[in-house]
Amino acid sequence: MPYRAWFQCLHCDDERYPLNEIIYECRRCGGLLEVRHDMEALGRKPAYEWMKLFDQRYMRTDFPFGSSVWGKKEMVCPEVDNENVVSMYEGGSNLFWAERLGREVGINDLWIKQCGNSHTGSFKDLGMTVLVSMVKQMIADGKEIPAVACASTGDTSAALAAYCAAAGIPAIVFLPKDKVSTSQLIQPIANGALTLTLPTDFDGCMKVAIELSRRENIYLANSRNSLRIEGQKTVAIELVQQDDWAVPDWVIIPGGNLGNVSALGKGFLEMKAMGLIDRLPRLAVAQAANANPLYQSYLTGFSEFEAQKAQTTLASAIQIGNPVSWERAVRTLRRFDGVVEQASEDELANASARADRTGLFTCPHTGVALAALFKLVGRRVIAPDSKVLVISTAHGLKFPDFKIRYHEHRLQEFGVEPHHRNRFIDVDADYEAVRGAVLRALDARRAARTAGFAT
Ligand SMILES: *Cc1c(COP(=O)(O)O)cnc(C)c1O
Ligand SMILES: [Zn+2]
Repeated sequence: MPYRAWFQCLHCDDERYPLNEIIYECRRCGGLLEVRHDMEALGRKPAYEWMKLFDQRYMRTDFPFGSSVWGKKEMVCPEVDNENVVSMYEGGSNLFWAERLGREVGINDLWIKQCGNSHTGSFKDLGMTVLVSMVKQMIADGKEIPAVACASTGDTSAALAAYCAAAGIPAIVFLPKDKVSTSQLIQPIANGALTLTLPTDFDGCMKVAIELSRRENIYLANSRNSLRIEGQKTVAIELVQQDDWAVPDWVIIPGGNLGNVSALGKGFLEMKAMGLIDRLPRLAVAQAANANPLYQSYLTGFSEFEAQKAQTTLASAIQIGNPVSWERAVRTLRRFDGVVEQASEDELANASARADRTGLFTCPHTGVALAALFKLVGRRVIAPDSKVLVISTAHGLKFPDFKIRYHEHRLQEFGVEPHHRNRFIDVDADYEAVRGAVLRALDARRAARTAGFAT
């Protein structure tokens, strides 16, 4: 095995553990662990050979390398045997030029990375395939793991449930009661996970999951678990791979627990160390104003960081006041000359609907990222000639309620005034009635366009 990786404490240089050990934090200082790779071994192969190898494997059928996560196995998780990989062909999500939306907001080179077009409908699949594969490896190595558990705002639990079901490993998920969408709730149910809903928020669910894992030897799949970061970092590799290994000027990503922005940064840094890229993009993290501890910290120049009690937000997957990975995220943003922007409920809902009018179907978290984009362009932090890439984190179809309520003007409690409403037309099944309704509606749209309103 020429490639090696291990857990290493973020603070203690000589605190290392093997990847197949059940450990989530440093035994000496309690700090977060990260996966480190033998970069010297990875650096021995010239960059162009890595590119050729990754391109050869990309979206082909040679198991497990057709998965865009496992296609980069040497730099993701070389410690799992191929026969223990639990993969459902993750990654390879479309990256497209959002020409019309970009033109509307004054960015010619706007790209959207559709990470929600994936097995369970969010980017969480990228990390979960690595974590569950490692669990399968540990079980194969004789470790006693009765189940894998997670606390979730909806998407992690869907991914955990699916990958555990594929592997035949019991899954336990904790969800905040009435705070996840119906689609998100039904996914772990359908995949046979033990699904517990608790009358608390995500942070409350997390506490219980940690305690259960400590006392009952149940493996914890939360983002404290840095194996997931290794899978999620492949989004950085994939998005440059999809553009012939060119690096965008900006990447905008919504952040809650802040694992994903850390993963994105790690992917870029390791590619740079291996010579796959020669520069870094700038990063922007977008937070809901109702759950914005990183934004608050950014305002202090990251000199302070305070956990908060998150307020309710339509962007439910990032309703997190005490993000596990804040320290990783701050490091990442410092390294990438990063910025943090926030979006109110009104801004995120209208940004999402505005993007939908140009052919997208965005989740509320992607709405947060887009609202941040609009604001950063408006303030000229992002220059109009920049190449900008927005990470869309989940599929809009997971959040039908959010969409319906927007178009029915039923988000007043969130302070949302919909500027891009579209209502269905209820009409008799009679030609004249239909004709009248169609012509009136087309007229109204033409008038609105002439008056300068988006239609
Ligand atoms: C998990 C999630 C996020 C936030 O990612 P973090 O790593 O927690 O910052 C954003 N959007 C969606 C749809 C998610 O599921
Ligand atoms: Zn330590």
